[in-house]
Amino acid sequence: MEHLLEADARFVWHPFSRQKSKAPIVPVARGKGSLLFDEQGNPFVDAISSWWVTIHGHAHPYIAERIYNQALTLEQVIFAGFTHRPAVELAARLIPLLPGNFSKVFYSDNGSTATEVALKMAVQYWWNKSREHGVPPRTRILAFRNSYHGDTFGAMSVSERSVFTMAFHPLLLEVDFIDTPTPENIGELRAFLEKEGDAIAAFIYEPLVQGAGGIMMYEAGLLNQLLSLAHEKEIICIADEVMTGFGRTGTLFASEQVAEKPDIICLSKGLTGGTMALGATVCSEKVYSAFVHDDALRTFFHGHSFTANPLACTAALASLELFEKENTLKAVENIVFANRNFLPELELFVKKGLIRSPRICGTILAFELTSSAPDGYLNPIGQYITEEAMLLGVYLRPLGNTMYIMPPYCITKEELRKVYDTMLSLLKKLDGSQHG
Ligand SMILES: *Cc1c(COP(=O)(O)O)cnc(C)c1O
Repeated sequence: MEHLLEADARFVWHPFSRQKSKAPIVPVARGKGSLLFDEQGNPFVDAISSWWVTIHGHAHPYIAERIYNQALTLEQVIFAGFTHRPAVELAARLIPLLPGNFSKVFYSDNGSTATEVALKMAVQYWWNKSREHGVPPRTRILAFRNSYHGDTFGAMSVSERSVFTMAFHPLLLEVDFIDTPTPENIGELRAFLEKEGDAIAAFIYEPLVQGAGGIMMYEAGLLNQLLSLAHEKEIICIADEVMTGFGRTGTLFASEQVAEKPDIICLSKGLTGGTMALGATVCSEKVYSAFVHDDALRTFFHGHSFTANPLACTAALASLELFEKENTLKAVENIVFANRNFLPELELFVKKGLIRSPRICGTILAFELTSSAPDGYLNPIGQYITEEAMLLGVYLRPLGNTMYIMPPYCITKEELRKVYDTMLSLLKKLDGSQHG
């Protein structure tokens, strides 16, 4: 074990991790359900679904067996000029589940590529159309402040300018950022779209909840107003459901709660039940048809070595089957219910000024911790919480001073209570250290 950590420190560079004054690193030996076990066999509850991906639990035997059998049959094949059963079956099963009128699934490897593909598709849609009509193509992209759409250059460009992107600002695409809608600013946002909408190619948004930007939540009805106006202006609307997809917000997709549907939807994280890397960008017939032409230049020249990897597609099919077999949406409903009941328990700490803005959306619960350091990702209280929670057998990973939970849906009532109690006891401890 000592050996493992030494070798890790010597050879491995971890994501989103400082390389000096490193935080302690935990060797995980195995997982089962919502539990992870360290090398000594100590269990802890994975209250953030291992970066928001795990749905049915770790090492689920049903998914594992399906992947194993597929690996013995066909592990990988080039996807240009070839196809295979898992990719086709998955696309055919996925499309009817999606909120909107979708026609084609384009596969990639992860959430960043799923949004990258969506942006390229939307921009080329306008370029392809311009070849027909001889008008200059629209190229402007609209995104929300506070958004997060991934870490590759295009995905970074449509994400909030933040500590994540700071080193790259001179190289990022120019993007129009608007605030997420509130009852106060909706008039202004509508006026902006009325004025500029005709020049905008695409609008990318995280429906209902902005994840890595700080678990910010906003109203479906207000988003609906923006989407409706965007559609009037023929803007390609891209719902980034990489995090919100597959039950996170209480419905299978967050866009189900919004009347206006997207033209493109991006999926990853929960797509394979959180077991394998896979991305999907699903588009409407309107978008797709702009690429169907004798003109070879209208081809979408994009692909990845592992596009539609058969193992990943099989894992996704198995996950969708589990949604039915295990009635996963019922488990989601139970978490939503528990979160609603738990929310009042936080009021005491709001009154004491220890926390701010407790909020829930589906299975997600979040609030800000008040601390002497500035708000944001670099606030060190997050690391403190992670280490203290770990001692109590729960894995939490606040985004700076934004504390949240996003549990796997298989979490038991007792495990979820343990997560709540851990948060409460950490808050009591913080309270004690402030006043004592
Ligand atoms: C995580 C996330 C991404 C990026 O996905 P990766 O698989 O980490 O590249 C994109 N969009 C949203 C909304 C996300 O939460």
